[in-house]
Amino acid sequence: MEFLIPSRTARPSDDPIFALNTEARARAAAGHRTINATVGALLDDEGRLAVLDSVAATLREIPAREVAGYAPIAGSPTFLAGVTRDLLGSRPAAKQVASVATPGGTGALRHALACFLEHGQVALTASSYWGPYKTLADENGRTLRTFRAFDDQGRLDADDLERQLRAVLEQQGRALVLLNSPCNNPSGYSFDAAEWRRIREIAADQAKLGPITLCLDVAYAKFGAQPLDVALDEVLSLPKEVLVTFAWSASKSFLEYGLRVGALVAVHADEGQRARIQNALSYASRGTWSNVNAGGMAGIGRILADDTLRATVDREREAWVEILKGRVARWNELAKPAGLRYPRYDGGFFTTVFCDRAHEVAVALKEDGVFVVPQEGALRVALCSVAERDVETLVGAIARRVA
Ligand code: PLP
Repeated sequence: MEFLIPSRTARPSDDPIFALNTEARARAAAGHRTINATVGALLDDEGRLAVLDSVAATLREIPAREVAGYAPIAGSPTFLAGVTRDLLGSRPAAKQVASVATPGGTGALRHALACFLEHGQVALTASSYWGPYKTLADENGRTLRTFRAFDDQGRLDADDLERQLRAVLEQQGRALVLLNSPCNNPSGYSFDAAEWRRIREIAADQAKLGPITLCLDVAYAKFGAQPLDVALDEVLSLPKEVLVTFAWSASKSFLEYGLRVGALVAVHADEGQRARIQNALSYASRGTWSNVNAGGMAGIGRILADDTLRATVDREREAWVEILKGRVARWNELAKPAGLRYPRYDGGFFTTVFCDRAHEVAVALKEDGVFVVPQEGALRVALCSVAERDVETLVGAIARRVA
C-alpha cells in the first residue's frame, strides 16, 4: 500500500547541503581539523553565527502582543513601505509597486513561480542557480529551464539567454526569468552595468512575443561590490510588457535567517495591473502560509522606517561585510595563482570552482577535512563560513584535488 501520491514517493529527504554541514560539524566535534565551507550563513572566524546586535535588540523590544497577534495577510504596511524604500529609495518607481510579505526570499520566489506562470510551465534561470529554485518549481508544479550562465570569456552568456528566452516565449507565450545577482549563489558572480544593459535590451526586444516577468533575487544585495542601483538603472526603464519584480529577504541583509521575513515587490506603471497583482499575491499568501511572522516584520519594519536605527544597522553590517571582503580578497590572491578556475568574484557568500569530477573531488576533500558542496561541473565554496586564516589551506587542498 502507498499513501503518498506517485509524484512524492521518491522525494529525497534532507537538503544535501544541510546533510554535508552536519557531517562537517560532527567531524569538528570529534576533534579533527575541519574547514566547513558548506554553510550558507555568515560565520565569524570562530565558526559562530554572525549577528547584528542592534537588530537582535530591536526584535526583543517588540511588544508581546504585537508578536503574538496575526499580521495582515499581505504584510504589515510599515514593513512593506520599508522594503520598497530599501529597494527603490526615492525613485518614482517606489510609488508604482504591489507587494506582499513572504517567509524569506524563498516565499517570494514561490509566489513568483505560482503567480506569473501557469501550472506545468517553465521558469528560466541561469545554469548556475540556487538548488531550491528547482525544488520550488517541482513543489509548485512548474519546471526549470536554464541558459548558459557564462560564455567563454567567463561573462554572462547573453546570447544564450536571448535564445532560451525566445524558445520559452514561443513555447508558452509568457516567461518568468529568475536572476540572482549580485553575488549569485552558487557562483558568486555579479552582473556589471554592461550585462544589466544587455539583459534590459533582450527583455525589451523579446517582450513582443509575450509578457515577461523578471524576478530579481536580490537576497545578497547588501554584500555586492556595487550597489543595487547598477541593476535598477537598467531594469526600471523596461517597457510595460515587462514586469520587474524583486525577491527581497531579511535573511542575509539583517543576518536573520530564522526570522523568515521577506517580500515580493512588483513594479509596474499601470494601476490596474498593480491592483490585480496585489490581489493575486495576497490570495496566494492566504492559500499557502496565511501570514508572515508578525514580530519579525515589526522589528525589521521598525529598522527600515527609522533613519537613525537603520544607520546603526548599516554600520554594524558594514563591519561584517569588511570581514567577508577580507576572505574574498585572500581567496582571489591565492586561488588564481594556484590555478583554480572560478567566475569573477568580488563579494558575497560563495564562489564556485569549475571542476569536471565535482562529486568525486568533494568526497576526496573530506579526507583533508575540507567540506565543500559538489554541483554539476563545479564545487561551491562558502567563504562566508571560512575564516581568512583558513583560506590558504582551503585553496591548497582544492588545488591539489582538482589538479
Ligand atoms: N535566494 C538565494 C540565492 C539564496 O541563497 C537564498 C538563501 O540562501 C534565498 C534566496 C532566500 O533565503 P530565505 O528564504 O532565507 O530568505
